[in-house]
Amino acid sequence: MSVSFSDYLAQVKSRIREISVHELKEMIGRQKDDLTVLDVREPEEFENGIIKGATTVPRGYVELRIEQVQPDRDKPIAVICAGGTRSALSALSLQGLGYQDVVSVSGGMGAWVRAGYELDHPRRLTKEQQARYARQIILPQLGEAGQQKLLDSKVLLVGAGGLGSPTALYLAAGGVGTIGIIDNDKVDTSNLQRQILHSEGAAGTPKVQSATETLRRLNSDVKIVTYEERLTSENVMRIFEGWDVVVDGTDNFPTRYLINDACVFLGIPNVHGSIYHFDGQCTIFNHGDGPCYRCLYPEPPPPELAPSCAEAGVLGAICGVVGTMQAVETIKVLLEMGDDLTGRLVSFDALKMSFRELKVRRDPHCLVCSEHPQITELIDYEQFCTVTF
Ligand SMILES: [Zn+2]
Repeated sequence: MSVSFSDYLAQVKSRIREISVHELKEMIGRQKDDLTVLDVREPEEFENGIIKGATTVPRGYVELRIEQVQPDRDKPIAVICAGGTRSALSALSLQGLGYQDVVSVSGGMGAWVRAGYELDHPRRLTKEQQARYARQIILPQLGEAGQQKLLDSKVLLVGAGGLGSPTALYLAAGGVGTIGIIDNDKVDTSNLQRQILHSEGAAGTPKVQSATETLRRLNSDVKIVTYEERLTSENVMRIFEGWDVVVDGTDNFPTRYLINDACVFLGIPNVHGSIYHFDGQCTIFNHGDGPCYRCLYPEPPPPELAPSCAEAGVLGAICGVVGTMQAVETIKVLLEMGDDLTGRLVSFDALKMSFRELKVRRDPHCLVCSEHPQITELIDYEQFCTVTF
């Protein structure tokens, strides 16, 4: 026996609860954070706006994604579409999945607009951006809002070398909107074994220039800001001001302490990576309640005890591992996603391919980040090693 669509829809509506847009407006005011307003229209229908705070999942994905949107089946969900039909079908489906408190908004967004209720106009990615970032936008933890946030983010990389190269490439590929690079070196043939931002043709040119060209070829969406200078106490505050995250890809002590102290003074998270021979480390300093670099190492070692940089060999691919970890952690910090490496230091031994994790804690008496710091000005330590990875 066949059933007409209108009969079927009547059956569906008899099995769900419908509310008016006025009741929805009242629920939003009353239940604020508890209520999920699920807008099941297609992206091209959002042009005229959505309800502020609504989660958008097209009708075709409702069953697939609802557990990521709202894992708790007892929490209230109000489903809305353009006119109240797709929302009714979705509501029945959600009930079938065990959601206990689902309503469909009768009249949908059409009625909401006619009632004169407020609309939010989220910025939309362009068609090109939607296509380019499709594989990460589809991640529910990221979504279009996350991508928009990345595009609005500003990340400063200190060093366009072995660590800075993979970090820069992945941040640019992922659409971090503004990437700053500070480096005063020129590309040397001996860099090419690990510094994958640069290629043979760039030998002899400034690394910031070579890096800019490479990143522009990869993603013209990204704005590149360069500083062809050596970081000192004179310029660090000027250069660091205004960035969301600083990524430390250097490996000399004076710069490392300068980066740390400036990040503490300016309140910028510092995604730190380092490598030595076959070992690599990654952590985040000066973020949340985590430590800064001086909490772990209050002062630099005396020059005679520092490892001799000229002799420090490194396998290029190890820079790739650590620099990529820094890119991942940077994106997590920007999107406040997952459990980032704040308070934890991951170290890995490439020869054994084993990873270890150390808890690192804030020192309440830290020289620079404690309540009563002894260091309140930047210090230029003696430059006893100028080799950067
Ligand atoms: Zn500290």
